Amino acid sequence: MIKNTFTIAMLAITCLIGHYAFAQKVNEPQNTNAQWSQPYPPFRIVGNLYYVGTYDLACYLIVTPNGNILINTGLAASASMIKENIEALGFKLSDTKILLTTQAHYDHVGAMAAIKKQTGAKMMADEKDAGVLTDGGSSDYELGKNGSTYEPVNVDRLLRNGDTITIGAMRLVMLHHPGHTKGSCSFLLDVNDEHKTYKVLIVNMPTIVTDKKFADIPSYPDIAKDYAYTLDAMKKLSFDIWLSSHASQFGLHAKHKPDDAYNPQVFVDRKGYDKSVEDLEAQYRKKMEEK
Ligand SMILES: [Zn+2]
Repeated sequence: MIKNTFTIAMLAITCLIGHYAFAQKVNEPQNTNAQWSQPYPPFRIVGNLYYVGTYDLACYLIVTPNGNILINTGLAASASMIKENIEALGFKLSDTKILLTTQAHYDHVGAMAAIKKQTGAKMMADEKDAGVLTDGGSSDYELGKNGSTYEPVNVDRLLRNGDTITIGAMRLVMLHHPGHTKGSCSFLLDVNDEHKTYKVLIVNMPTIVTDKKFADIPSYPDIAKDYAYTLDAMKKLSFDIWLSSHASQFGLHAKHKPDDAYNPQVFVDRKGYDKSVEDLEAQYRKKMEEK
């Protein structure tokens, strides 16, 4: 018994030290793209799906009578902006029940821990990104060289390819799209408005993060295979509307201006999607040819 008590006490101390160390060591990269922190007026994309992110860091709010889902948060300092955006649309941050991300990088989960604390929402993540989320990105195969780049986030539910996330009648399917991070993912959901049902794809584009050759990343031996898998899987998807982790990736600012009236049709753009995937595939092939 004495030994057990001692062990428990030691564990508690270790946890406290661990927590303290994390709290002290979050090292979010500075001098990032100014558009990442630039405010942007929130708007209704389609049906119950809203854009609540910054000018370039896309965050999505899905509103249901049973509570809301927030996908991505932007940088740590974006927390207040997201809250203001949600309130400007007439909703409450405190109604957020589920938190999701398309990839565990600081520009998409920087404010996740803070928002989780404020809302008590459940974090659901691709199982392959759960580890990095929990250590604030310090085990990321590339950005981990900077230590923890965001406040660690506890994951309440691990998601695998094809898993569904439901809240009332709302249903999202998680698609495992690894490469950019080991657990990068996309979401497919049906969204109704007054006129029709749209199949919406919120996709994480598999851009290449590392300057190293893929063969020189021992902590991610499957990286080349994962990119190939993701590019192939992405080509086979069908949808009406596509959106992405960065506004620039799906051409938000060419498709929508802040004062525009509600018009989900502007996001119907298969051609733009195919072109983007093709470009990414070309970058992947170039990377594979690196000597
Ligand atoms: Zn990223």
